Amino acid sequence: MKIATKFIHAGAEPDPSTGAIMTPIYQTSTYVQEAPGKNKGYEYARSQNPTRKALEDAYAVIENAKYGLAFGSGVAATDAVMKLLNPGDEVIAANDMYGGSYRLFTKVWERYGIKFTYIDTTDTENVQTAVTPNTKLIWLETPTNPLMNISDIAAIAVIAKAANALLCVDNTFASPYLQNPLDQGADIIMHSATKYLGGHSDVIQGALMMNDAELREKLYFIQKSCGAVPGPMDCFLVLRGIKTLHVRMKQHCENGEKIAHWLRKHPKVGKVYWPGFEDNAGYAVAKKQMRGFGGMISFVLKDDTVETATKVLSSTHLFSLAESLGGVESLINHPASMTHASIPREERIKNGLVDGLIRLSVGIEDADDLIEDLSQAIG
Ligand SMILES: *Cc1c(COP(=O)(O)O)cnc(C)c1O
Repeated sequence: MKIATKFIHAGAEPDPSTGAIMTPIYQTSTYVQEAPGKNKGYEYARSQNPTRKALEDAYAVIENAKYGLAFGSGVAATDAVMKLLNPGDEVIAANDMYGGSYRLFTKVWERYGIKFTYIDTTDTENVQTAVTPNTKLIWLETPTNPLMNISDIAAIAVIAKAANALLCVDNTFASPYLQNPLDQGADIIMHSATKYLGGHSDVIQGALMMNDAELREKLYFIQKSCGAVPGPMDCFLVLRGIKTLHVRMKQHCENGEKIAHWLRKHPKVGKVYWPGFEDNAGYAVAKKQMRGFGGMISFVLKDDTVETATKVLSSTHLFSLAESLGGVESLINHPASMTHASIPREERIKNGLVDGLIRLSVGIEDADDLIEDLSQAIG
């Protein structure tokens, strides 16, 4: 089945009690049983909920996975993956990744005896070198937030397998429309469904997808035991979002391409980060593992000062200054003080995330209007 058909029909079965075409929002905490233990497979809503079940089925379909699990947020999904580990286990993670993941790893999980090694995963050899007998998990983000670095999922999956470690890919930036990491050999996919999957900036949610039944059981046990489950209304919103993911992504990609090229030609703009430039170091790998390049773009001004960046950040009208990404409306963000403020400055700068970096989440408005808005803001 092709993507457009898959995304619209994913997890959607007419409601058995009424035939409702849209999955009802089962706003209930518990289910009545006929006799103790005699029930319809639903006992208590932390463990099971029909709206969540429909969404989890959809999560599996959109990532070509066997199983999907929904969590209260992207970081809750990441947290669940960390709970697979034991004290003394080691994790290899990208040195350029979402600030919230970095904060969760360094401020929470290090305290529980998990050791993290941060490396540049764009060079596959670095990953091989970092592997130790204690490596149990490789945490990958590609393209990365916000520098759009590309790592080779298939090549790193081979290293993970040989090391007997799990490979988990944060696929938030690409979305399943552009990239399917399980097909490339990853063991787990993590999504902040808050972003492209929801797509309308109205819900916080996370997802995990996997093929291995035993792994699914372990993660389901963590999901119900630790309880970071999303409510049924939020599940409904993401289910609805997924139905238009392909049309939204098509437009995000088209607008992203136009704006990335326009920025690159602008006399006041310095480096532009977008995975679709043919002269990018990661272009060949991106071309191999992605079906398009998306609407996330970062750039620095030639006059790279916080003051000049701040002027641009506060002068746009269509691009709203806000954290988050992946919604239908365009957003502009200052990673150093907003999304990535939890990463120490020296660490940030070392990895290329300079103080003046500006990140755009290009929405699906008319690209010419967006360019006009950026044009007046950059001056
Ligand atoms: C937003 C984001 C997360 C965290 O997800 P939440 O839904 O905000 O908890 C993780 N990874 C990436 C790449 C993100 O952009």
